[in-house]
Amino acid sequence: MEKFFWADAIAEKIIKEKGKKKQYVCASGISPSGTIHIGNFREVITTDLVVRALKDKREKVRFIYSWDDFDRFRKVPKNIDPGFEEYIGRPVSDVPSPFGKGSYAEYFEKEFEKSLKEVGINPDFIRQSIMNKKCKYAPLIKKAIDNIGKIKKILNRYRKKNLPKDWFPLEVYCEKCNKDSTKVISAKGYFVEYECTCGFKNKIDYRKVGRVKLKWRVDWPARWAYEKVDFEPGGADHSAPGGSFDTGKQIAKEIFNYKYPLYQLYEWVRIKGGTEFSSSAGNTISLKDVLEIYEPEIVRYLFVSTRPNKGFAISFDGDVIKIYEDYDQLERDYFDGRLDAQQKRIYELSQIKKIGGKKPEKISFRHLITLVQIGKIKDLSDDDKKRAEKVKNWIDKYAPDEFKFEVQKKIKYPFEGKEKDALIELREVLKDRDFTEEELFNEFYNICKKFGIKNTDFFKTAYEAIIGKDKGPRLAGLILEVGKEKIIKLLEQVK
Ligand SMILES: [Zn+2]
Repeated sequence: MEKFFWADAIAEKIIKEKGKKKQYVCASGISPSGTIHIGNFREVITTDLVVRALKDKREKVRFIYSWDDFDRFRKVPKNIDPGFEEYIGRPVSDVPSPFGKGSYAEYFEKEFEKSLKEVGINPDFIRQSIMNKKCKYAPLIKKAIDNIGKIKKILNRYRKKNLPKDWFPLEVYCEKCNKDSTKVISAKGYFVEYECTCGFKNKIDYRKVGRVKLKWRVDWPARWAYEKVDFEPGGADHSAPGGSFDTGKQIAKEIFNYKYPLYQLYEWVRIKGGTEFSSSAGNTISLKDVLEIYEPEIVRYLFVSTRPNKGFAISFDGDVIKIYEDYDQLERDYFDGRLDAQQKRIYELSQIKKIGGKKPEKISFRHLITLVQIGKIKDLSDDDKKRAEKVKNWIDKYAPDEFKFEVQKKIKYPFEGKEKDALIELREVLKDRDFTEEELFNEFYNICKKFGIKNTDFFKTAYEAIIGKDKGPRLAGLILEVGKEKIIKLLEQVK
């Protein structure tokens, strides 16, 4: 076991390598090219956890989040009108929203920002479309233009074929058609000359016309230098030797005179269960989808408890129950003082609100599966009602059939022989006296013995009678939750 929790270890390293600073800057960024996948959320929460770790060390931190919405619209996602093809090549900030007012980028940005707030993540959002249109990076663009030779040399180290002679580290959005189907003809000082496939041609001063953008591999280190970034995570695609982080480090140092940030690779997140929502349907599982079935603290817990460089799956199937149980156990152990330092940190960093002094009393997800389906949630506390809402969503959208049931009004099957006798006995026993769950459970075995019926057959019969299926939630609990009277009345139909 390592000495520090992973986010604390990174925070420690930042302070050590970057030296004591008045304020540390931690960054993350995503291109809003469609619904933001939960895998991309890992980028943001990884940064958030490092930010919290630094703050817990009493350091001042700025958390910036870049919306890379000056990136080109490269392809139409499956859940969007195919007619959007006509906008390919425009900045995503200049593509109209597929669902009403505003821009395409804004639509997906807002949706994600709202979900981020729910999980307690509140960074400073920076819209790169605005930064670029306001020509904020002009001095950095000039540095890149002044050093094209050096940049090419760095990039060529990792290329099979060298970049062509007329290569520029620039992209230009055409002033006439607003697409990036342009070719830079010359770039010198603050001036860039370009021509577009639409026929338009011009020479612009990019201090005044915000249409020039650095290419990704140069843009990224330029922004580290601009924002003085100390930490930023990146996906596996950026992390390989010769990948954009590797070349970015060198470009930051040699061109922009900036010592690159500390870096953390994060692995992709898979989805388990809920396949009807996955790639085949063209839909993306977003943070919003995950929050429909998981409480915000549990969403955080999933990411906190797995090191960023390890992949894991978010379950939409029956494992949801286990994850809730694990989390509840962690919470109880936290308040009972049974956690080691690492687990304690996992619990702390999963929280959104300040941790109170009292152990929260919660109804388990598993128990709520029954309560929700027998309609017994009216008297629950507000927190339990919120959890019940997640349970309901899970049952409606993702739960495997074995978890779904409905208490019968009319018994579906005719029962005969031992089965019939056992059901009648169950009815009479219920009439006889009150039971705790455990007592009733033991009573089932008495009935089995009395009629020489196998336990498995008895349970199957009882489930068939009560919920019309051969499996269900714990039988004794179910009977007591539904209420003896109702069950007795139902079993009166066995004759
Ligand atoms: Zn054009």
